Amino acid sequence: MTRFAVWDNASILAARPRKNLVDPRRPYAYLVEPEYAACGEVEDVATIFLTNRECPFRCLMCDLWKNTTDERVPVGAIPEQIDFALAELPPAKHVKLYNSGNFFDRQAIPHEDYAAIANCVASFGTVIVENHPKLCGDDCLRFRDLLAGKLEIALGLETIHPDVLPRLNKQMTTDDFLRAVRFLSANEIATRAFILLRPPFLNEAEGVAWAVRSMEFAFDAGVQCCSVIPTRGGNGVMEQLRADGSFAPPMFRSLETVLAEGLAMRRGRVFVDLWDAERFFDCELCGPARRDRLQQMNLTQQVLPAVSCDCEAIR
Ligand code: SF4
Ligand SMILES: [Zn+2]
Repeated sequence: MTRFAVWDNASILAARPRKNLVDPRRPYAYLVEPEYAACGEVEDVATIFLTNRECPFRCLMCDLWKNTTDERVPVGAIPEQIDFALAELPPAKHVKLYNSGNFFDRQAIPHEDYAAIANCVASFGTVIVENHPKLCGDDCLRFRDLLAGKLEIALGLETIHPDVLPRLNKQMTTDDFLRAVRFLSANEIATRAFILLRPPFLNEAEGVAWAVRSMEFAFDAGVQCCSVIPTRGGNGVMEQLRADGSFAPPMFRSLETVLAEGLAMRRGRVFVDLWDAERFFDCELCGPARRDRLQQMNLTQQVLPAVSCDCEAIR
């Protein structure tokens, strides 16, 4: 049994550890990494993790609030953060402006800054932002029109499991996701879906099966790209769920299976998130080689020969 019968906003907030101290004038992280681009080439993508006001949603598995402010950042702070990061980073073709929440939440990114932001990123071919499906409306079109490059919006689908999605407290249905993708596609805005591998309340095999089904759903809806994220602990609630047996992080082999199945669909680009992948290694001996293989699969969009190791004998 969980400590709370239902994990709602109040109980999720109560389980949280403290936030990190952040500076509203500085992004909290920034980097450039290669990605297999929509054009079929591997191209550099700059990712800027913007500091801004905490997302108003309270998803069960989310830990993005850790690097956010309590108040709306002043007008001008977001363009200043972008300029700061771009001055430090090597050149890149595309840029992700990830704000630990929803770009089109006006309390997160002041809409007065849209033109200045578009100006900061005018040299990039694609501008990728993240946004909740329920917040996809006219502001997306307004921002699209200000950009020199193309707009792509990353939407958290998380899972289509009919019992688990409501329990994630994302305040979203699969119909909301469908509506958002159709609206954006009709307005020439590309989409990618974030999908969780093994969210809470699923065992390992169910976690794999529902990640694959969720990718199929996202591609059917019309997204061009799926990014699979192994569900992590670290936000307070997940530790409590783990203690009562409702959550365990996925095994690395499940990440391998899901990427191979996603690529085999040939419906669009599929990536697995390999940030802190060591946390998920099933075997210390072959873990690094398996991570490198998935990195190469992300970059080539091809299924590569499997890594073999003695550990398979005891599986
Ligand atoms: S909508 Fe995204 S950022 Fe907001 S709580 Fe949910 S997962 Fe976190
Ligand atoms: Zn091994």
